Amino acid sequence: MELLGKYGKEDLAILYVAKNGDKVLEFVESLQPPIPREKKWVLIISTMYGCPIGCLMCDAGEYFHGKVSKEEMLEEIDYMVKSRYPDGKILVEKFKVQFARMGEPALNENVLEVLEELPKKYEAPGLMPCISTVAPKNSEEFFNKLITIKDHLYSKGKFQLQFSIHSTNEEERNKWISSKIWNLSEIASYGEKWFKEGDRKITLNFAVAEDSLIDPEIVIKHFNPDKYWIKLTPINPTNKAVKNEIKSGITEENSEFFPLVQEFKKRGFEAEISFGEYEENEIGTNCGQFATKYNNGEVEIKETYTTTKYALSD
Ligand code: SF4
Repeated sequence: MELLGKYGKEDLAILYVAKNGDKVLEFVESLQPPIPREKKWVLIISTMYGCPIGCLMCDAGEYFHGKVSKEEMLEEIDYMVKSRYPDGKILVEKFKVQFARMGEPALNENVLEVLEELPKKYEAPGLMPCISTVAPKNSEEFFNKLITIKDHLYSKGKFQLQFSIHSTNEEERNKWISSKIWNLSEIASYGEKWFKEGDRKITLNFAVAEDSLIDPEIVIKHFNPDKYWIKLTPINPTNKAVKNEIKSGITEENSEFFPLVQEFKKRGFEAEISFGEYEENEIGTNCGQFATKYNNGEVEIKETYTTTKYALSD
């Protein structure tokens, strides 16, 4: 793997862009100021070169050049680990490794091998992998194996599973996620198999557009608030979202009193708006943006990395 460049802020998020042969991939490490790295450190890795799913608001879906191998995924992680913890002892309370950058993890069986390898490779008591998925059809084998791995290696709240469902209207879901996916009933019945006592609640993520169809009554019919929580995210201004004229329903101005949060809470769900995306917009590291531009010959990637201290007033 050849590093092409790194971009961002030392005390917020750093995007790495790398090349394997003629294929480009991105990975990210991020902090959540003012929480120090010893308390929480998040790595976000790519599982594919591009993505075959092609969601309407995601630049990673502009092309698909294959799956990232087990070794290459471990290289993404190791690159970031070695720069902070050269001896492989990661004494971080919450060390999250998210399989959530470019690619749909459930379509890459190598992800399962990486999950088995991580606890052997590092001394990392706070290790918590996170799989973020749109639940593609024909990935049942992946999901069944994932339950076994979670129960053996990451029980008692050491694993985070997120379904990005985006809408409660199946037609709209199928439009946004332009591949065959599980419907809400199928996700809910998998969740029943997944959830064991002590596990973290499963995340249901909605990227909220101005005209999104999200009905908390439909959510409660399918999903038990004891087993699921709700994460609402703004739509990032990716090239694809701009091209498809998808505008975010959540803005900095309306986020504090966003009515859907209350509607979900009334029905017993934990619900919150995830603001991480604003920070990513600020440093321009939305998923797939750099790799896609690089592939299109639109940017020359170079080091534009700064150690400037992040201030909340930035
Ligand atoms: S959002 Fe995820 S599944 Fe959809 S195109 Fe992007 S990387 Fe693929």
